[in-house]
Parts: sequence; structure tokens; C-alpha cells
Amino acid sequence: MTTESQKTEVQFKSVAKSFGNVKVLHDLSLDIADGEFVVLLGPSGCGKTTLLRMTAGLESISSGDIFIGDKRVNEVHPRDRNIAMVFQNYALYPTMTVFDNIAFSLEVKKLAKEDIRKKVEEAAAILSLTDYLARYPKELSGGQRQRVAMGRAMVRDAEVFLFDEPLSNLDAKLRAHMRVEIRLLHERLNATTIYVTHDQIEAMTMADKIVLMRDGNIEQIGTPDEVYDRPSNIYVADFIGTPSMNFLPGEVLNEKGVCSFATHGIAIPIRPNASLPPGQKLIAGIRPNDVQLSDNGPIKAILELAESTGAETQLHTRIETTGFVTLAPRGTKVAPGEPLSFEVPAGKIHLFDAATQQRIN
Ligand code: ATP
Repeated sequence: MTTESQKTEVQFKSVAKSFGNVKVLHDLSLDIADGEFVVLLGPSGCGKTTLLRMTAGLESISSGDIFIGDKRVNEVHPRDRNIAMVFQNYALYPTMTVFDNIAFSLEVKKLAKEDIRKKVEEAAAILSLTDYLARYPKELSGGQRQRVAMGRAMVRDAEVFLFDEPLSNLDAKLRAHMRVEIRLLHERLNATTIYVTHDQIEAMTMADKIVLMRDGNIEQIGTPDEVYDRPSNIYVADFIGTPSMNFLPGEVLNEKGVCSFATHGIAIPIRPNASLPPGQKLIAGIRPNDVQLSDNGPIKAILELAESTGAETQLHTRIETTGFVTLAPRGTKVAPGEPLSFEVPAGKIHLFDAATQQRIN
């Protein structure tokens, strides 16, 4: 059962979806490998849930194809797709015990009582629910309810697990805990998983591969490191990482063959081998954690507010008209209104074309 889940690849080939004459997904193509944990990430309304529901067969496909394994499933009934879905609201049956909630789909399939007991107990052991099997959902914490919902999915021997914002009803501490639990469960079951969230931390910590969406399109597909280190455009750069990346408008300065980035009357060195046309309008993206306070640093800013987060201090500064946030070690002694200098390694400056917003380095 659960520990021997089959592995199956999922493929989306030019998949599109319209509701009436409103197109909400535009020709999406995506390959998900056997056992891969893929996170669909994006803001509210970008089409993540619709894509997940189409995979489950709960929503029709306007054009294109979805394959699960080598089977085209466009017209296959949800019941026959061999997928298990875990929803945001868990959808547990309130009048049933934990045992009966987990056993429900097996009862419907009319499995032998003994087989059902074995499967439920196995799933409960993996999910640390053994002591709770006789309880009702209202007698459980949010995290325990979430685990019951996962138990229901696990006993179904599904080939593909689909999660729709499963942690958004939990408080921050429990969310962090359940992230680890879901990921550990994945290491154990190794089932192909598609996980929908708008929370970039969930995506960064859990995904093998992130699919970042906007307005029904895919903006970038990559590992967490790839989307963090080489965001393909400003939208992705802004979405990933916390505190968010700083963006400075400016242009290329080329003095005797050495390129730098000019912004608000300052020049910031960029990669020595960069060869860019002087005057090209750019936007430089700089992550707060890539910046260091430095007496002779080229970035000159005025401190507006120093905010302690416990482990470190966030410096909210201004470079003329543009806000610029940096991180400094805990206890850094600075005062509002103070002029500060910063430096940033040339390799940590992300350059985007100002017109197209696309990455250029
Ligand atoms: P959220 O995180 O808020 O759930 P999402 O990225 O999952 O957002 P979807 O729920 O997939 O977004 O919705 C994508 C778009 O499709 C939205 O503009 C939404 O209003 C629209 N939409 C979804 N379901 C329907 C429907 N049944 N009829 C008409 N429009 C719909």
C-alpha cells in the first residue's frame, strides 16, 4: 500500500482553459517526472487551482492534452485517474472517527474488513495518528486534521498526489512543522506530487521543481536554487525571496571598456566581463541579504528605519527616491537619518532590461 506507491509521470501538452470566453490558462506545457514534487506557485487568480482540478478531472480541458503515465486522461472520469487530492479545508466527515474517515474510500470499494484495518493502521503509523483513530475531527488540532486528510489520500494507492493549499488554514508554527512532515512523507512514499500554493517559502522549502505562474502563463520552471539565483524576469525575482529583492532603475555606464551600473548619481560595479551598450536602460535587482555595510561601499543611502527581527536587523533605507532594504547583523548601531554606505558583490547583481523586464545576465 502506501509505502509502495507507484510512480508516474504527468505531462501537460499545450493545455488551455477558458470559462465562457475568458481564457484563464494559455497553452501550458509542463513535464513532471516520476516521483517528482512540483509546486505550482503564483498569486491568487493565476490559474493554479484550475490546472490542478483539470489534472484531477474535476474541470474539463478546453484544448491540449494531459497524460498521467502513458495514458491520455482528457476524458477519463476522476474516479478512474488514480489520483488522490488533499484540499485546503480537509473536507473530513465530522460524524466519523479518524479511522472511518481514513477508511471511507476503501469501504466504498468494498475491500475486506481486515485489509481495510491493515491499510488504515499502516497509514496512521506513518502519520503518527495511531493514538487518535477513535477520535472525531472536532477533537483534533489543525495539524492532526491535516494528517487525517493525508491519510485518506495515502490509503488510496494513488499514483499522483495533488495538494491544493493544504497548509493555509494553519498558524505559522504549525505550517512550518507540516511543511517538514509533508516533505518527509514524500521522501518515504516517493509519489509524483503536484502542490499548489501562493506561499513562496512553501515552494522554496518543499519543491524539487517550482513552476511560477502569472495570469494563466508559466513565467519560469526551475529548482528552488535556479529561480532564486537566476530569476528569468523581474516578476519572478520579486516573487521569490524574503525580504523582497530591491530594484534600482538606471543605465549602463561604460568607461574605458569597464561596465558599471549608474543609478541615482552612483555607479555600482557589475561583472568585469559584462559587455553592455552604454546608455542601455536597465533595472538592477539586489537581494537585501547580498548587501553589506561598508565604509567605502559605492551604494550611498539614508537610513529611515532599523527594524530588529531578533536574529538580524533590517535596514530600511532610501537611495534618493528609491527604497532600498538590506540586512545587517543583530545589534548593528545605526540611527535614522544617518548616511550609510553599502557594497554588493558584482556577481550578486541581477540585471534586467528596463523595457522587456527580462534577465540579461
Ligand atoms: P487562488 O489561489 O485564489 O485559488 P488560483 O491561482 O488557484 O487562485 P484559479 O482558482 O485557478 O486561481 O482561478 C483562475 C482564474 O479562473 C481566476 O480568474 C478565476 O476567477 C477564474 N475561474 C475559476 N473558476 C471559474 C469558474 N468556475 N468560472 C469562471 N471563472 C473561473
